[in-house]
Amino acid sequence: MRPAPPAAGSAATQPAVVDALPRVLDGAGSGSIGPADGVLPAGATVHDDDLPGVAGLDPALLDALRRATADAAADGVRLEVNSGWRSPAYQEQLLREAVAEHGSAAEAARWVATAETSAHVSGDAVDVGPPAAAQWLAEHGARYGLCPVYRNEPWHVELRPDAVDGGCPPVYADPTQDPRMHGRPGPSRNRRPVGRRARAGGRPDLPVRAGRVSAPRARGASRGRP
Ligand SMILES: [Zn+2]
Repeated sequence: MRPAPPAAGSAATQPAVVDALPRVLDGAGSGSIGPADGVLPAGATVHDDDLPGVAGLDPALLDALRRATADAAADGVRLEVNSGWRSPAYQEQLLREAVAEHGSAAEAARWVATAETSAHVSGDAVDVGPPAAAQWLAEHGARYGLCPVYRNEPWHVELRPDAVDGGCPPVYADPTQDPRMHGRPGPSRNRRPVGRRARAGGRPDLPVRAGRVSAPRARGASRGRP
């Protein structure tokens, strides 16, 4: 049997090829944003450190998350990372999408930070899933220094080493209450492991004293860990 000849006018009959492309980037919208910007596939975990969205995280945060992931698994809970480190371009795209979704920049600010203020862009935050994992961390996260930060985003977790001894600090109602969102220094932006900023394309951080929340140290409060 001979192979069928190419159909005349095939371009007009195969729109699906073109149409499928944006779906490859599902979760990041459109454009050139992809895995290199921190977009993670469904089901990613803290062990997927070949993915920039995981590898770009603060090493101390990653260490705490890995210990928590192992202990959660022992409780039958799979801890996944829906979002971790993000490039500034990815964050800006998320913000544009939030403005479109929520109708105004002011309302979007309750949900999505700018590239300049986002703890995701600096590698200091993860959004965990599924909800059972966020619930597990709400109950057990403090012992690893893993704390929720915003009441309206129970899945958004950052490292607060002092929580190991003192429990997690109170949460903000939403990101608009967070002084970091207004350009003021916050609890986890005053230390930056070497080697992470190059990928993020960020600027060097100024050494600052934390204000109302005590400053974490990268390793000091990790109980029994070098
Ligand atoms: Zn988040």
